[in-house]
Amino acid sequence: MGAQHGGYVGQRTDRALISVVVPCFNEQEVVKLTQARLVAVLGARREFDLEIVYVDDGSTDKTSEILGAFANEDDRVAVIYLSRNFGHQAAITAGLQHASGDAVAVIDADLQDPPEVILKMIDQWRNGYDVVYGVRREREEGWFKRSAYSAFYRLLRALARIEVPLDSGDFALLDRRAVDMLDSLPERVRFVRGLRAWIGLKQIGVPYERPGRAAGRSKYTALKLLRLGLDGIFSLSAKPLSLIFLLGVLASTASAVGFVFYLLWQISGIEIFGTSPAAVPGFTTVILLLFLLSGIQLISIGVIGEYIGRIYEETKGRPTYLSQRVTGARKLPRREIDLAGEAESEWRD
Ligand code: UDP
Ligand code: MG
Repeated sequence: MGAQHGGYVGQRTDRALISVVVPCFNEQEVVKLTQARLVAVLGARREFDLEIVYVDDGSTDKTSEILGAFANEDDRVAVIYLSRNFGHQAAITAGLQHASGDAVAVIDADLQDPPEVILKMIDQWRNGYDVVYGVRREREEGWFKRSAYSAFYRLLRALARIEVPLDSGDFALLDRRAVDMLDSLPERVRFVRGLRAWIGLKQIGVPYERPGRAAGRSKYTALKLLRLGLDGIFSLSAKPLSLIFLLGVLASTASAVGFVFYLLWQISGIEIFGTSPAAVPGFTTVILLLFLLSGIQLISIGVIGEYIGRIYEETKGRPTYLSQRVTGARKLPRREIDLAGEAESEWRD
């Protein structure tokens, strides 16, 4: 199978190699179905060869064994076993760094991203687009999750300097040169869909309906989802820092104006709305203001803390993930990559 990586030109016209990266965390209920669908939809095409790269993100159920069996039965399958659960974004990163395709798709293991859409993405890739991302038209989720997602993407767009496409997740197809660019980014805490927008190149969305999970339960707890959202905002934008500065300026200006007003009122002794300055008991106002200002201060410290925490994470220089083993896809050339995110001890059997 000839994956050509010479220069920055993916092989879009001749028989190409398409890789599909599938991050899996405790997906024993669904992963067999996923494998069958992927092979059925993408496995027997004349226009391209298929490589499926499963990333076992430290699963504690039967997922690891099932994936191992796939690799034994089908030489198009490779499995990367991470040494523990590193999270969805780290798992995708691992998959992207190991995939050898001329174009690489990223898809959820739970069939919420229909494999058929990858065919449409490949069409757009052949049209010359480097990044083809799925845009969710409908979501079969509760109203709370839907509106939270919607609010988040709009907030992110307002804050980030780059154009982050609305309602697009990690489901995407990337040309080899986009993958190489992503792989070469040094940051450890990764919000893949943001970085994907950041690299630029020719990008386009493909709309699709997002069904509910085929089987199993969501691996994202509310807390994990919140972390992901915060990673998105704080890794793509420094605007919150400017905003708290602005808030401080506004609060100071307001209190200066209030101070001058109060002083003049005291000196002049004029009645306003029938009240003389001497008759105003100020306790409630003072206490409320105290709460307001200390609230603003705590939030500001929190925002600064988020950035400092991220600086700390990055300076530690630990890799995004550690893989303990890579298996399968023997016939595929191992990409020669120099990756900060990859462990030395990795071996391939
Ligand atoms: N996932 C992962 N590591 C994690 C959490 C999730 O690799 O720590 C994978 C999971 O197996 C699935 C994808 O990320 O393939 C999306 O997760 P999920 O379907 O639970 O998220 P949701 O669709 O509910 O947002
Ligand atoms: Mg899902």
